[in-house]
Amino acid sequence: MTVEQTLAELVAIDSVSSRSNAAMIAYVRQRCESRGLLVHEYPHIDAHGETKINLVAQTSVRDPAVETSQAESCATVELALVGHTDTVPYDPAWTDALRLSEQDGKLFGRGACDTKAFIAAALTAIESVDLAKLKKRLALVFTSDEEIGCLGAKRLVAARPFSARYAIVGEPTSLQPMRAGKGYCLAEITVHGREAHSAYPNLGVSAITRAARLISAIEDIAEEIRIDLHDAFDPPYTTLNVGLINGGTAKNVVAGQCRFTLEWRTIPGQATDRVLNEVRKVIGEISGTDHDFSCDVDAGRFDESFETSASSELVQFLEQASARSSGTVAFGTEAPSLIALGAEAVVFGPGDIRVAHRTGEFVPIEELNQSVQILLRAIERFCR
Ligand SMILES: [Zn+2]
Repeated sequence: MTVEQTLAELVAIDSVSSRSNAAMIAYVRQRCESRGLLVHEYPHIDAHGETKINLVAQTSVRDPAVETSQAESCATVELALVGHTDTVPYDPAWTDALRLSEQDGKLFGRGACDTKAFIAAALTAIESVDLAKLKKRLALVFTSDEEIGCLGAKRLVAARPFSARYAIVGEPTSLQPMRAGKGYCLAEITVHGREAHSAYPNLGVSAITRAARLISAIEDIAEEIRIDLHDAFDPPYTTLNVGLINGGTAKNVVAGQCRFTLEWRTIPGQATDRVLNEVRKVIGEISGTDHDFSCDVDAGRFDESFETSASSELVQFLEQASARSSGTVAFGTEAPSLIALGAEAVVFGPGDIRVAHRTGEFVPIEELNQSVQILLRAIERFCR
């Protein structure tokens, strides 16, 4: 089966994160088992009662020396190819979202770029390799719920199904190897005030005004934190954003509550909780002058940054194979989870992240075909 046919079959399976990914897993399972890979599923029921499954498909290693040395510990995978099975939702008006269509050398469909193209390339690559001849272990890893916070990969880390030496995490990077990524963190901050009729503001305290003071102080933190630099990124510092705010109940009521979402993306080398600690310090300072200042900070997400050395053999191999020098990403990926499993991880795949998540998402056919060749060479280079 060609990589394009495989991609068409993958796109035809609706795997929006809100649904179960069981159909996608059944598909990749069958393709892996037909190549003799040993398959293990890690199922989970999510908060909405949907079954979400991570799947690990591994080669069995014939080399007795490797087998014995690994018998006592958990299996060491030399190379893991990692793809997430879920996609973002699609507009119902995009009637061809689940039907792969071709135009001008591009293949359109939901997930065509993010990240079913990589999965199709990996499934095609293993059909061109004599897996029985591999001396070191290869794993194909398929995760759930990446688009809603890399939840599947985090559950996989908790299950520790293997440790890995190298991992290629499939994401649309236009075939540029991405060796480092910023962390991704979120906190919900609820500022409390006291409601009153706005004709008598002295009877109340505006939560909106308090939130404005706090946000202004957060802007100062964003400036101060720029002294820490990592030149591989653009911009080269940790960024902060208040992306959502909601407060008050009516125009003539002094607001009793104001809630906002703070997001920050940390550069590697900076503690993930650094920004949050600064925010807490500022809250302490505000409370020093405004004695009944009250707010709740709910830190919901702490995804680590990651960095794999430019001298890593995997980085060097992918730079050479793609003829592109390595770069960095500022969006969240599953790479930190693979690093937690011991790997030197690189984010890499066909398609452009700027067209992912959009109606009319596509992958260039040439990049799709190139990915098959590069993954094939990676398997031979690292596992033979
Ligand atoms: Zn993705």
